[in-house]
Amino acid sequence: MTAPLQGQMMDVPLTVSALLTHAARFYGSVEIVSRRIEGDLHRYTYRDCERRAKQLAQALLGLDVQPGERIATLAWNGYRHLEAYYGTTGIGAVCHTINPRLFPDQIVFIINDAQDSYVLFDTPFAPLVDMLAPQCPHVRGWIALTDDAHRPDMRTPVLSYETLLAPHDGAFDWPRIDERSASYLCYTSGTTGHPKGALYSHRSTMLHAYGAALPNALALSARDVVLPVVPMFHVNAWGIPHAAPLAGAKLVLPGKDLDGRSLHELMEAERVTFSAGVPTVYLGLLAHMKETGARFSSLERTVIGGSACPPAMLRTFEDDYRVEVIHAWGMTEMSPLGTLVKLTSEEAQRPPLVRRALREKQGRAVFSVDMKIVGDDGQELPWDGVAFGDLHVRGPCVIDRYYGADTSPLIDGWFPTGDVATLDPDGFLHITDRSKDVIKSGGEWISSIDVENIAIAHPAVAEAACVAVAHPRWTERPLLVVVKRPHADVTRDELLAFYTDKVVRWWIPDDVVFVDELPHTATGKLQKLKLREQYRHHRLPSALAADDCPLADSTADADARAAGPVHEGIPARRSRR
Ligand code: AMP
Repeated sequence: MTAPLQGQMMDVPLTVSALLTHAARFYGSVEIVSRRIEGDLHRYTYRDCERRAKQLAQALLGLDVQPGERIATLAWNGYRHLEAYYGTTGIGAVCHTINPRLFPDQIVFIINDAQDSYVLFDTPFAPLVDMLAPQCPHVRGWIALTDDAHRPDMRTPVLSYETLLAPHDGAFDWPRIDERSASYLCYTSGTTGHPKGALYSHRSTMLHAYGAALPNALALSARDVVLPVVPMFHVNAWGIPHAAPLAGAKLVLPGKDLDGRSLHELMEAERVTFSAGVPTVYLGLLAHMKETGARFSSLERTVIGGSACPPAMLRTFEDDYRVEVIHAWGMTEMSPLGTLVKLTSEEAQRPPLVRRALREKQGRAVFSVDMKIVGDDGQELPWDGVAFGDLHVRGPCVIDRYYGADTSPLIDGWFPTGDVATLDPDGFLHITDRSKDVIKSGGEWISSIDVENIAIAHPAVAEAACVAVAHPRWTERPLLVVVKRPHADVTRDELLAFYTDKVVRWWIPDDVVFVDELPHTATGKLQKLKLREQYRHHRLPSALAADDCPLADSTADADARAAGPVHEGIPARRSRR
């Protein structure tokens, strides 16, 4: 066999620093505006950002940081954090973003697992750093992301970031780096067991940035003003700190104040056109809008993901505020974007309800992501929008193995996501559950996400979680745990009646519990594991009745189960398990 003919193009590695250099050279005067921890608004340009990222690179080299060394950040969205993204990766070090909302013992585990050599932190985390430092022997230095004047009093000896940068001039060329070398280290939330590290490469980060910026994904351009509410400590803020400089878009970084009023004020003041965040944060924003009667004068579209976007939230954004919602799904192990909803011109002509049903799904794959659903026997299931199975993915931005792990999680070259989903003939993904959260009732499967979405559509419901509770007759039945909106009221029976005609009867929860708040993970997802444990011994009224006749089977229930799905897009049975 003859060798294939080689292409004759320049061998320029895909390295993260090229993104910032591109923005600094071609969009040099475009602004980056940050609400600082110090309280004021800071503004500068991509040109300034690159200079300071280079000053940081020089400072790190001065501290003898070597390629491949892990430099951690514990920080909100702000310009110094952005400089840390580029200053570390630019010299071949690895930027390890840590989620400060994790439990301190998880953070200790993560820092020691990653063997971070320096940790850059925002000053509100000073007490946390004092707690962590004695337990993290590998860390050579803790760097407060501020100047000497604002450096907090701490037990731990710390350097101040500005003092570190001051002696350097930023006159520095980014070194050439192998595109397969590591760029970022991001840990999963660790809802079960220890968090696991996903180690991205320059190549995967760059391919992800290209894919994320495309018109069928975030569709960023130089005309956009982008406010990532999603934190830079969680999976690279969905790639926005890379896609925005690639597109030359203005960045607005909201700092630590993510309440509705602060976000809305910043969006209006900076004429934000595009935002991205998890549903929980947007609950606060929408509550503020409703209470004050405020409007968005510049916001055009927002990506919502991280957990299922409740259809009621999608409706409110689109109908009440004329803001397009782009529902997205992804995970840490995928860098993280997997799918987003963008309709073709033909789909956009469909009747409003059909269109809405499509927008409520998780969408189509971002370029470079391939996916399939499989049954328990590992066989691929049809893309018919009905069969649901375990979702497997692959692509150049999907992990091959976890950081430090000896074994690969892949099955036949595919990464099992742990999500249960359907795929329809047009390639639309619909996540029905985490495989651990699915409710198994009488041998059939109930999607907890769909049950929650109906509850959230009730005007008196602020948030809802649906979890499985053991049942003597049906194995498991759904329990709905609900937080009411302030000043609103609804009874258990009214809420259950709200389900009539929306789902088959056996999908209707057996009971409702009202609570003041629901537990969330460090990344804003409902902590269903905790709820399942908490309500493990909850006695469902139906269970009490079933205790009297454990073997009885009601014809009505059996008929209802046989009837399968009643409303479009919600599969009632999984074809194999
Ligand atoms: P993380 O790695 O922390 O970003 O979590 C990834 C997981 O969040 C996914 O595997 C899903 O279970 C869940 N998730 C993310 N986005 C969505 C979405 N749009 N709808 C439903 N679940 C989602």
